[in-house]
Amino acid sequence: MSDNQQRRVDLRSDTVTQPTPAMREAMMAAPLGDDVFGDDPSVNALQARIAGITGKEAALFMPTGTQSNLCALMAHCERGDEYIVGQSAHTYRYEAGGAAVLGSIQPQPLTQGAMGEMQLADIAAAIKPDDIHFARSRLLCLENTWNGHPMSLAYLAQATGLARERGLATHLDGARFFNAAVATPEAGADAHAAARHIAGYFDSVSVCFSKGLGAPVGSALCGSRALITRALRWRKMLGGGMRQSGVLAAAASYALDHHVERLAQDHALAQRLAKGLAGIDALTVRSAQTNIVFVDVADGRAPALLAHLEQHGVLATGLIGLRFVTHLDVDEAGIDHALACVHQFFGEQAGTAPRVQAAGPAVY
Ligand SMILES: *Cc1c(COP(=O)(O)O)cnc(C)c1O
Repeated sequence: MSDNQQRRVDLRSDTVTQPTPAMREAMMAAPLGDDVFGDDPSVNALQARIAGITGKEAALFMPTGTQSNLCALMAHCERGDEYIVGQSAHTYRYEAGGAAVLGSIQPQPLTQGAMGEMQLADIAAAIKPDDIHFARSRLLCLENTWNGHPMSLAYLAQATGLARERGLATHLDGARFFNAAVATPEAGADAHAAARHIAGYFDSVSVCFSKGLGAPVGSALCGSRALITRALRWRKMLGGGMRQSGVLAAAASYALDHHVERLAQDHALAQRLAKGLAGIDALTVRSAQTNIVFVDVADGRAPALLAHLEQHGVLATGLIGLRFVTHLDVDEAGIDHALACVHQFFGEQAGTAPRVQAAGPAVY
């Protein structure tokens, strides 16, 4: 067996997890029906559950986060409306321009700070007056966590408050919503209370089950009954009307029962990785509070480091900076193996003085 086969530590994304045996059992046991008829008990149970957790009237199970965000944008906005969004936000940058292509919705992207925040003054200035020259400013879209950073409650309150004051609706792309909830203890006594509190700032929230929660497939859009009714039509049009999808919903429900609180372990592993890398001079570690660690590599050596890691079964992503993501299928031994490989590459022993750039609460 090569080293590669002995150890594989896949830190490319939290989407690479395999369903656990217990999750597969839950999928096997799920009662099913045709969800386009509204008949799938497992889908209905999941939708009721996630609506309850987020404190919304209704929810809709979706095949992907991309479709969930797109249905949300199309349910909030009409042709000729615009939505305000971060320049690097997933919905704007990484979803193939779906809002513009399929929704005839004009994005108004704004520069973001290090924590993903758009300046309140920029948001205010971007909201267009009601004038025939302008698109109708209709929606503000935020993302939490953003690059692994949980947004501060103060910022969420200010940004969504401004939007509401100016008559805009608000949507949260919460692909890693529960990572944010777990990493924002001031939002609530436990992860579910924190989730409800964070969701409370927004008219709609999209959450992914297929990232840190470890389900194989699926997201949910949560919002008012009226919004979800509109989103249901868009989901059908976009090809997201699934049939016995309870087999997937059961995995998501299992994840809500068993994989939310444990996200704290992923966050601790990311910290372990960040601390272990911090002593290496050639690296600048941008430590997140959740499950993502970004590392800038000096002297253009990132591709060589990436190749070295891959040879030893450690997978990451990145070209200039590397990105490592912890998840359900990584443990301490895996992180320590990854650290040993990085140290080996730089020909050093374990690090000394920490050089982690603190990613503390943002100053907005
Ligand atoms: C992954 C992700 C999504 C949705 O991705 P899908 O692959 O379509 O499920 C949306 N927003 C953010 C921030 C993401 O990381």
